[in-house]
Amino acid sequence: MYTCDFNATTPLHNSVAELLAELARRPLGNPSSPHASGRFAAQILDSARTRVAEACDWPRSGVVFTSGATEAIFIAIAGTVFSAPAARRRIILSAVEHKAVQSAAQFAASQVGMRVQSLPVTADGVIDLAAAAEALDSDVALLCVMGANNETGVLQPIEELATLAREHGVPLLSDLCQMPGKAEFRRELSAVDMAVISSHKVMGPRGAGALLVDPALKKTLTPVLHGGGQEGGLRGGTENVSAIAGFGLAMSLASDELADRRSRMALARDAFERQLVSIAPGALVHGANSIRLPNTSFIAIPGVDADDLLHALPQLEASTGSACQSAAPTPSHVLLAMGVSPAVAQQSLRLSFPPGGTQKQIQESHAEATAGREVADLIGSAAQQLREAMGAPA
Ligand code: PLP
Repeated sequence: MYTCDFNATTPLHNSVAELLAELARRPLGNPSSPHASGRFAAQILDSARTRVAEACDWPRSGVVFTSGATEAIFIAIAGTVFSAPAARRRIILSAVEHKAVQSAAQFAASQVGMRVQSLPVTADGVIDLAAAAEALDSDVALLCVMGANNETGVLQPIEELATLAREHGVPLLSDLCQMPGKAEFRRELSAVDMAVISSHKVMGPRGAGALLVDPALKKTLTPVLHGGGQEGGLRGGTENVSAIAGFGLAMSLASDELADRRSRMALARDAFERQLVSIAPGALVHGANSIRLPNTSFIAIPGVDADDLLHALPQLEASTGSACQSAAPTPSHVLLAMGVSPAVAQQSLRLSFPPGGTQKQIQESHAEATAGREVADLIGSAAQQLREAMGAPA
């Protein structure tokens, strides 16, 4: 099996799996309980917070644990919008934001009569900075721009956007879920007011994530998840202690192993793209001119429907867009925002390579580049067969 869907979710890192197995054998109480097993859980939570804070170079008091990125995004967006001054009536989002951001912004805006405005991207998938400069003003409550796109891997100019936003006193939220373990993200973080990260995207367990919020801004957010006052009152509910512990470790490992993971991912991805472009007539790579995550390749083979391609290749795990939207048969909103036609969007397939190349490569110790070329060969020959079956010229 060739598993090239690492942006949808990641396998557990071995060291994280060992930690979780160890924690499963320990009496983990409720971290809010004063007795010994409660105090033990509180310590675990505490050290996970330190790990995340250190990996992100972010103040510990600004790390709010959640169940994942979607929840962190909602807490950040609704919390900001519900406490925004009356004069701030717009939320600005990049056109390529994940649905978690788009939906939370639409919902929060609808509750208070704000307007959501979309910022265009160029054909290369990068935010149009001139359009951002024009759109930002003192009536904007929040700007949301992701660090790296989950479909194309294209990185956004977060520091430049932060400078523009600051001029108008607009807080900037950046969804950085796809960056840890794949790209350096601390410079982006140092520029933003809030960011979100997710455990299952960084080889940690599912069910954990974090909102990183500037401690001063944190005090002004309107809480939207009420309960027992956990996480500074922003996220009520008993913390998922073992998942958060695994997340903390996964974030530390993502920092420690970044250089190695990045180069191994790039070997597989770059070999894949070179091979595919050389064997599949007309194959193109979306966002190829932009700086991208090292593992992500969103490709199109003209005339070949991506769903048919995946259907013809049961040994390949890839995606036709965001995993969350794979059930919805609409073309990728990210590609449409880049000006790609609906027909070509329908012919587009996202591959996101793991640090070890592919599952097959891990099992058989293939070199990363070999694995990348093998995936390209599989796709190239399946595309050729599909074209022949349709009677199209090769
Ligand atoms: N943002 C981005 C860029 C993502 O890729 C994802 C996952 O698909 C999410 C948000 C949602 O993350 P989670 O599954 O942790 O809620």
